[in-house]
Amino acid sequence: MAIAKGYAAASASAPLTPFTFDRREPNDDDVVIAIKHCGVCHSDIHMVDNGWGQSVYPIVPGHEITGVVTAVGSKVSRFKEGDRVGVGCFVDSCTTCAARDLDREQYMPGLVLTYSGFEPGADLPTYGGYSDHMVVKEGYVLSIPDNLPLDAAAPLLCAGITLYSPLRHWNAGPGKSVAILGLGGLGHMGVKIAHAMGAEVTVLSQTLSKQADGLAMGADHYYATSDAATFETLAGTFDLLICTVSAGIDWGAYLNLLKVDGTMVLVGAPEEPVPLNAFALIPGRRTLAGSMIGSIKETQEMLDFCGEHGIAADIETIAIDQINAAYERMQKSDVRYRFVIDMATL
Ligand code: NAP
Ligand code: ZN
Repeated sequence: MAIAKGYAAASASAPLTPFTFDRREPNDDDVVIAIKHCGVCHSDIHMVDNGWGQSVYPIVPGHEITGVVTAVGSKVSRFKEGDRVGVGCFVDSCTTCAARDLDREQYMPGLVLTYSGFEPGADLPTYGGYSDHMVVKEGYVLSIPDNLPLDAAAPLLCAGITLYSPLRHWNAGPGKSVAILGLGGLGHMGVKIAHAMGAEVTVLSQTLSKQADGLAMGADHYYATSDAATFETLAGTFDLLICTVSAGIDWGAYLNLLKVDGTMVLVGAPEEPVPLNAFALIPGRRTLAGSMIGSIKETQEMLDFCGEHGIAADIETIAIDQINAAYERMQKSDVRYRFVIDMATL
């Protein structure tokens, strides 16, 4: 065991405080990573609060991890000491089951989350990226393109792939009208990626306060959802609407903004169920869908795409002892557009 330093919450809704814990010894197929930066995802807040009822305490959050390789096991072939790497939301998945599908591995039952899961074959919980180092199987480590800085690239590991995957799956591109609902960590990545894919992009935000930023990120249009006229003006407009909102909202009102055969994809995961009227779907043969992160294969594809297009997150760098204040600000939609922890401050 190697001792690791990090920040943890001891119980639901407890503040994050310094925490020392064991990391497993590396195996032949493991990569040891010195963590340099970790993005702060709204999922970290849901998980610390046990809002989805699946948290394991103490919890060390963080699944937007970038760092540098410090050691590799004897069977590791793709990485060497000094490489710039990333780790996202999971660190293992089904490796033996017949249904294993590398294109959809995030939906397989054997998925091991980067934090609040259990190390396969070991009696140790997984602890995430608000920490100084990690030991991760080679197959779950990503390469960060040389032209992307490690701090602004960190949010790609969750926010980036969570938007890239549905944009690809539902064929965002030239001739497609795509709306991104919520301009936070996920949403701002969605705007940049959908724009780079060639889609016509509309931001739907609570107010117009971030309009200049949204347009600079590549949005073609920007509307406030606090203005009732938005829902009349945009009725029947979108092929694809991706909802990144972390709270419960009236999904029916947004489904009405879809064209016939349009799709609304939920990536935001509110803690409470949201009621839906069947007639929000029936008249337009509309689809309400969900999407969860992406496979390792697709995550590397997304990183390479972002490298080619020079896409990274707009970040506010914080010291780790500012993490509780950052959570409070995110709960008020007050972030432009992702907090990233500088792990040198640990
Ligand atoms: P975030 O940075 O806090 O952004 C969420 C945005 O939603 C806010 O910036 C705000 O945008 C909007 N919003 C927040 N509360 C709202 C409300 N009450 N009504 C209307 N709009 C509201 O959060 P994030 O990190 O992007 O995560 C968003 C959600 O996605 C979370 O639930 C998270 O757990 C989930 N998530 C899912 C996946 C997946 O695989 N499906 C992966 C990662 C995260 P405006 O200020 O523009 O209105
Ligand atoms: Zn996340």
